[in-house]
Amino acid sequence: MFCPLDCWDSCKLKVRNEKLKVKFEGDGFSPYLCWKLNNYHKFPRKIPTKYKSKNIMLSEGLEKLVYILKKTDPKKVLFVKGSGNMGIMQNITKLFFEKYGATFAVGSTCDGIGEMGIKKGRGKSLILPTWVIKNAKKVLIWGRNAAVTNIHLLPLIKNKEVLVIDTIKSKTAKMYEFIQVKPNSDYFLAILLAKEVIDRGIVKREDGNNFYEYKKLLKSYDKEDLMKKCAIDNEKLNLLFDFIKDGAVVLTGLGVAKCKECYKTTWAIDSLFFMLDFFGKSDRGVAFLGSSGYGLNNPFAINHKNKVALFDVNLDDFDVVFIQGANPLVSFVNRNEWKKLKEKTTIVFGKYYDETAKLATLFLPTKDFYEKKDVRGSYFHEYVLKSSQVLSSKFEVLSEYELTKFLFDAFEFEGLEAEDKYIAEILNANLEKIDDGVYKKRVFDLPPYSDGFFTNDKKFNFLTEKFEYIQKPFEIVTAKENKALNSQFQRDSSIYISAKSKNIMLRYENNKIEYNELPDILKWIIDNNLLNKVKYSDDIPENIVFAKGGEVINEFLKADGENAWYER
Ligand code: SF4
Repeated sequence: MFCPLDCWDSCKLKVRNEKLKVKFEGDGFSPYLCWKLNNYHKFPRKIPTKYKSKNIMLSEGLEKLVYILKKTDPKKVLFVKGSGNMGIMQNITKLFFEKYGATFAVGSTCDGIGEMGIKKGRGKSLILPTWVIKNAKKVLIWGRNAAVTNIHLLPLIKNKEVLVIDTIKSKTAKMYEFIQVKPNSDYFLAILLAKEVIDRGIVKREDGNNFYEYKKLLKSYDKEDLMKKCAIDNEKLNLLFDFIKDGAVVLTGLGVAKCKECYKTTWAIDSLFFMLDFFGKSDRGVAFLGSSGYGLNNPFAINHKNKVALFDVNLDDFDVVFIQGANPLVSFVNRNEWKKLKEKTTIVFGKYYDETAKLATLFLPTKDFYEKKDVRGSYFHEYVLKSSQVLSSKFEVLSEYELTKFLFDAFEFEGLEAEDKYIAEILNANLEKIDDGVYKKRVFDLPPYSDGFFTNDKKFNFLTEKFEYIQKPFEIVTAKENKALNSQFQRDSSIYISAKSKNIMLRYENNKIEYNELPDILKWIIDNNLLNKVKYSDDIPENIVFAKGGEVINEFLKADGENAWYER
């Protein structure tokens, strides 16, 4: 079995049914599980099918679904799928909606911006296999709070030299040597280090495309100005330079790719480490969230006859919205747009009766992950895990395959294969079986990019785009936390600001200073009635509003195009 949550670790686990209670235990390479799975059943869902908030039989709900879809122009049906569940079989519903002619909302609420930059340089974003991480002497964790979001990395890097770069003093930053930088300044740090690599004459590779243009771009930045932009001094710069110059594993996270143009940051980081010859090596490398589907077959790849970028969606263009496994009212930026769902015929196919499900016309409950078959890859490690149905559902629920089969039959569509055939097809790849339900991708027996990059000529493309980020009086920083995943589990609806702001706020509340004298960050909090959400923390710099998850902050964030960004 595997944990299907959208999490780096992709844990292997055992499911036991003890005294009518389902229990999870870690297994194999993930001998312990995190708080979320250990508390999974404290968030019960036993919600029946609902139509206009009233309980109905599942069969009635399915009839209503068919009626709604048959009477609507397919292009006016918007299909939105969340990414909180990594089982590949979850995607089978796309086969029906593509045949039907729905419009797909395409994009990412998560790593899309960062991945875009990696694709520009390398063509594809691949993981670093765990054996490469184990071989490394040094590990640079850049914008990833591994102690919270990637807990199974920690045993792999025990006894290694570890350096953390982040904008806030995260749990990970407290465990290792730490360099604090300003939010969205990671591009400038990568440029600064690349300039040092050239100035100190230690370039190892310049055989990528556009090296001359890249060097020109580096020259266009002034060292002192870059240091100011990142807020680092010479001592920290030297520390960082010495840390990376002879090789390390560089594990970046979503923290480096939060702003609209942050694709340039991941590209700048890759360009720096390509110059230092970090790719295709057995003891060093760079990894962001790698493609979890790489090395597997995807029987659900579709062309999207009709599509719209997720953050360009205008719900006025649609009559029906089918939402699978997502809670846009909480998890998506552009919240004002998603609030229009209550004016639409909204169908939610999901596990939890969450904010979006509550305003839906029709709610169809899905099976839990241990009640159905599935396969998942990982965006962190090289293993593939298979799950079988270990328990039967105790109430009326549907798997994604069952819903798709029902709809194919109702619309008399042809071409749907048996469930097991799809699972066999996904796994019919270059895999080595290493345990019951666990496979290893053989493509990672060699270090990633050993045979070149996934570009037209297999060469690395150096960064060619300048970034002129205008720093704001204060910035919003968002991160995942250990008890919540997107909108699931125990959310933290506080916003955190520097403890230094507390005194200023107290003076304002006691009429010792005027509103006009307040820093912008406090004016913004007052103007948006957020005072009751504020918690003060010593770990947060004075110019940062920090939010764990999007529950509060997504109300204020906007994006356009396919990929969300989290910049004010
Ligand atoms: S660490 Fe991640 S993959 Fe492992 S049990 Fe927790 S949420 Fe699931």
